[in-house]
Amino acid sequence: MSHDPYLLTPGPLTTSLRTRQAMLRDWGSWDADFNRITGRVRERLLQIASATATHECIPLQGSGTFAVEAALGTLVPRTSGHVLVPLNGAYCQRIARIIKVLGRKLTTLDYAENAPVRAADIDAALGADPTITHVALVHCETSTGILNPLPEIAAVVARHGRGLIVDAMSSFGALEIDARRVPFDAVIAASGKCLEGPPGMGFVLARRAVLERSEGNSPSVAMDLHDQWVYMQKTTQWRFTPPTHVVAAFDCAIEQYLEEGGLVARGARYASNCRTLIAGMAKLGLKSFLPEAIQAPIIVTFHAPDSPHYVFKSFYEAVKQRGYILYPGKLTTVETFRVGCMGQLGERGIGGAVEAVGAVLAQLKAAA
Ligand SMILES: *Cc1c(COP(=O)(O)O)cnc(C)c1O
Repeated sequence: MSHDPYLLTPGPLTTSLRTRQAMLRDWGSWDADFNRITGRVRERLLQIASATATHECIPLQGSGTFAVEAALGTLVPRTSGHVLVPLNGAYCQRIARIIKVLGRKLTTLDYAENAPVRAADIDAALGADPTITHVALVHCETSTGILNPLPEIAAVVARHGRGLIVDAMSSFGALEIDARRVPFDAVIAASGKCLEGPPGMGFVLARRAVLERSEGNSPSVAMDLHDQWVYMQKTTQWRFTPPTHVVAAFDCAIEQYLEEGGLVARGARYASNCRTLIAGMAKLGLKSFLPEAIQAPIIVTFHAPDSPHYVFKSFYEAVKQRGYILYPGKLTTVETFRVGCMGQLGERGIGGAVEAVGAVLAQLKAAA
């Protein structure tokens, strides 16, 4: 293996050399050159969602979950807030837990992990309970790879006059979210996912009118997006030490994203990876967990080979020896593993990963 292993994980993922090289410089957080980078990143993130006219981009230090927690804590009112969370995977479960810890009222809607959230169910739940103020939805549930129907759900939530908060962590930049057509109060994502930057910075695209009246909602100082926004508008600086290298490299990754052709090109590359992956694995006898119609082209869950010789840990180690890092499954009832479709996968691309898996299954005599 002549290179570091490729990460077939949905963030951190394999970044380009150019993106990594952008981290070789130290920046002063007060310096105008660095603050221009922050400004450009914020502006371009809004442009990706066609949200410049209606929303503000607030970046936040930390992993994606920090931004999710900050958005919920800042945008959901302290006393009247009541959030409906449809549950079909681990990331929605995490949102529900955050809402409980924040002390906001929570109502859940339970689904199986292979069932997408239905807009009709949201419609019924909002109709039945007028005290629900917000719906918090995960766009692509990365725990399985399932895609929830965001446009349909957004239309329902808007029709009921409630707020929609979207965890679009593993879809933003690859699957279309257009603020002019899909109404949302907040969309949350992070640097190290489909935009292929390094991990370390989350961001929230928040509806300006909602953000303006969110002062004092947050139970936290560090995670208060209203405060972060006001300070950044006033000074162009981050409130507290920014992850300077990450921001600079993320800016460089967004530059490459635009050079590649933006959302359409990024989405097409991942979709092609996803098709090649599923077809290649099927030839090896490995079946994907989800039917194609509800599979997002971001990460694919596969059933483990039905062989007594299969042990995830040895499979993982052997595939790693061949240059690829797989991702364990996250389902409780069936034995699975996951393969991401994102990141810079080199000359042999996703096909190289399928070859490695095939060789390892043969070597372990664990072919399905
Ligand atoms: C990656 C991800 C997150 C954030 O996870 P972190 O480990 O905090 O970065 C949240 N939601 C979804 C859907 C994700 O894919």
